[in-house]
Amino acid sequence: MTDSQETNRTLSKAYDPKAVEGRWYEFWQERSYFGADANAQGESTHPQTGDVYCITIPPPNVTGSLHIGHALQHSVHDLLIRWHRMQGRLTLCVPGTDHASIAVHTVLEKQLAKEGLSRHDLGRDKFLERAWAWKEHYGGLILQQMQLLGCSYDWRRERFTMDDRYSVAVQRVFVEWYRKGWIYRSYRIVNWCPSCQTSLSDLEAPIVDQPGSLWHIRYPLVGGNGEGVDVATTRPETMLGDTAVAVHPEDERYRALIGRKVILPFMERELPIVADDFVDPSFGTGAVKVTPAHDANDYEIGRRHNLPQVVVIDKNARMTEATNQYAGMDRYECREAVVRDLMERGLLVKTEDYPDAKVPRCARCDTVLEPLSLEQWFVDMKPLSAKAIEVIESQGVRYIPERYTHIALEWLRNIRDWNISRQLWWGQRIPAWRCADCEQWTVQIEPPSRCDQCNSESIEQDPDVFDTWFSSGIWPQAVLGWPDPSPELGKFFPTSLLITARDILHLWVARMIMSSLEFLDQVPFHDVYVHPTILTWEGKRMSKSLGTGVDPLELIEAYGADATRFGLLYMCSITQDVRFTEERVEMARNFCNKLWNASRFVLMNLEGADPLRVQCDPGGSESGVDDLSLADRWILSRLNRTIRKTNEALSNYNFDIAARGIYDFIWGDFCDWYIEMSKARLQGEQRPTTQAVLYHVLETALRLAHPFMPFITEEIWQSLPNGKARATDSLMVARYPQANESTWTRSESGIDESAEAEMTTVMEVIRSIRNLRAELKLPPKQPVPVMVVVASPHSEQLLAREQAHITNLARVGALSFLAPDAPKPLNLLSAVVPDVSSGTDVGVFVSTEGLIDAERERERLEKEIAQTRSRVDQTRQRLQNSSFVERAPANVVQKEQNKVAELDERLRKLEDRLESVR
Ligand SMILES: [Zn+2]
Ligand SMILES: [Zn+2]
Repeated sequence: MTDSQETNRTLSKAYDPKAVEGRWYEFWQERSYFGADANAQGESTHPQTGDVYCITIPPPNVTGSLHIGHALQHSVHDLLIRWHRMQGRLTLCVPGTDHASIAVHTVLEKQLAKEGLSRHDLGRDKFLERAWAWKEHYGGLILQQMQLLGCSYDWRRERFTMDDRYSVAVQRVFVEWYRKGWIYRSYRIVNWCPSCQTSLSDLEAPIVDQPGSLWHIRYPLVGGNGEGVDVATTRPETMLGDTAVAVHPEDERYRALIGRKVILPFMERELPIVADDFVDPSFGTGAVKVTPAHDANDYEIGRRHNLPQVVVIDKNARMTEATNQYAGMDRYECREAVVRDLMERGLLVKTEDYPDAKVPRCARCDTVLEPLSLEQWFVDMKPLSAKAIEVIESQGVRYIPERYTHIALEWLRNIRDWNISRQLWWGQRIPAWRCADCEQWTVQIEPPSRCDQCNSESIEQDPDVFDTWFSSGIWPQAVLGWPDPSPELGKFFPTSLLITARDILHLWVARMIMSSLEFLDQVPFHDVYVHPTILTWEGKRMSKSLGTGVDPLELIEAYGADATRFGLLYMCSITQDVRFTEERVEMARNFCNKLWNASRFVLMNLEGADPLRVQCDPGGSESGVDDLSLADRWILSRLNRTIRKTNEALSNYNFDIAARGIYDFIWGDFCDWYIEMSKARLQGEQRPTTQAVLYHVLETALRLAHPFMPFITEEIWQSLPNGKARATDSLMVARYPQANESTWTRSESGIDESAEAEMTTVMEVIRSIRNLRAELKLPPKQPVPVMVVVASPHSEQLLAREQAHITNLARVGALSFLAPDAPKPLNLLSAVVPDVSSGTDVGVFVSTEGLIDAERERERLEKEIAQTRSRVDQTRQRLQNSSFVERAPANVVQKEQNKVAELDERLRKLEDRLESVR
């Protein structure tokens, strides 16, 4: 690889990502360019974090592999990391993985099931052995996939949320919060997954609307002569655990019954009728059954009225001994049995359809969760959230897009206590030991040998582990060394930015803010960028099982990493979700090829270039400003404008705008226009200046595009001549362009307004001639005579001076100027072009004399008009068909409407043409 710096190499004929990507990734890694040393100093400052820029990636599950959402997330990560690094900041991105307790459990238990075993057959120690072996073997695959994408993270600092130092940090949080009285143990109704055999937080238990039934059941009144109270429920099996019936205190229908009792059928228990504000009189019959052991709201009602709890469903979702004849049944089997028995006894009043019963499901395995009353560890979130609210309100942490600020605040203001116990084995064991004698807990990091209350030696550690989010909630500080005072923590904390998907804003982001404020009295990051979700082209969630997912590794394989990154970033808008289409990645691949071919052209034409002029660092020597032609001044100005736009867009997280700007500049301005114009000038006196400008623009554009497309830009940059004169041996550590860095332009801003205005006019004239040629369907090589009518001397001078470009790029045979009032010859096709540089119009005329046979042209036009008319009519009819308009997706209807407009315009032009041929 070193030879690349010695001599300029030629680029192969076609760009082959596979031949390039691995090579450069190794090159960068060998030179440790991904790393950052806490004792080093950055060369430029960042508004919030001084001379450093630091990101810690959201640790993906150790079980994971890169999906398309990750690919977007990490394209953004690496874009920002490379951009800041090239600006001279000490830049660090810390990677790592999360132990993902419940996800790993699911994988391992599935494996065991295939062997006909359960984790209980294996025992805790053997199970953990397997888990670690599995993690060593398969874990971290996703990090290797990030390397394929080009991610320049500091791999030497890779962390895992269950490595030793990390575990100590997690225990420290638990112990300190316990000592402050913020962590307590309590019976609570928790979401229990009978399949995963663990409790879940509310955030892991999405409520799903599901069609069900509402059963109206009669509970006979004690001493009521056949009278009764009707209650309505979606879960009749839980009636076996009822300990009261509740009504609203203001409900006239039931006022007289408050204080009386009903008989619970089958169990033959007497239940009091209590009055509670919580009851909604409009739901069902207005009277509800109360099951404190199996419903969170009923639990609260039970507390208010001192009701007993009767547990009727166990951890396996089977009915307990307390249910007599139903004991041992599955919950759904029991539901059927209860309903059948109620019917038999004539106590089932009616059954209604209930279309949207709210059912909590396990986010992992989709099993319907069972609310159970269990003893768990809880964190009191109120004291923690107060500080976080203050910081977010004062923009101490900024959410991008801004709407997430309100969402985060709303959640924090309504925060509930957090159940952090999980009945799993793989995870961080909770550092709490219960005494068999006094039943008190000893909580500390070092395993104790005796109870700290009664000195008894019969103590046993809580078998539960922490909710995974409890450990990842300290990620940014822990990976930088906390709780030890490390140079990294001093240098890189608070970090600059957190990039995340929206679904873990609460699970993770808010909790990191709380713990960092608590332990370090600092925010963990200044900005939170919530990246868009990638949807299918139709706007639906991508789904592996429906086959609508896209595998980023397949994209990298087919198009290369640069094209995959660029295509994703090109779609990454700040305002809305991304509707994915592979065409964008294809377009990005074509863009890579375009850049490659343009670079080959430049390299082939640098032969004999003056080494002083073809410089690596613009401004390093004679500027040659006076030699510049209009095209030179224009492309340099456009370059500076693009640089400015890119830097601004990246500062504002507008990745799509930045990508489009670079695309339009390289493909449009540079390749389509400047390179085309340079072809003639490379043959003449202006060759040295043209070579210098070509070199400068290409070299700068490579630096500009590098954070988006690191591999191809490095490959080309290393092939440029004068490698030895460069300040760095790799593009990834070269300086990112700034709009005013070049001495090539006269103005301070680097923008040359008059050159841009004049060039726009020249380009418009060329475009209008090309359009007229197309209208005439002229063969590409056939020259046409063109007349321009100018209204100002400035326009005339400009077009006369730039005549060569016009004749070359629009195949003009002879260009002549006419005064506005001069008589014009017959059979002309015309267009009007605004000359923005003079504020007047330029008329462009192409004579059709001798180019076409008028008779045949009329026939041709009439035929085309007839065809176009019939297409307009067809499209209109389709749009008038209401069933089409109602059923077709909005974008399809819009497409049809645009088509009508286009065809109408075309028709108008054809008719004008026909008029002029007469
Ligand atoms: Zn589950
Ligand atoms: Zn004790």
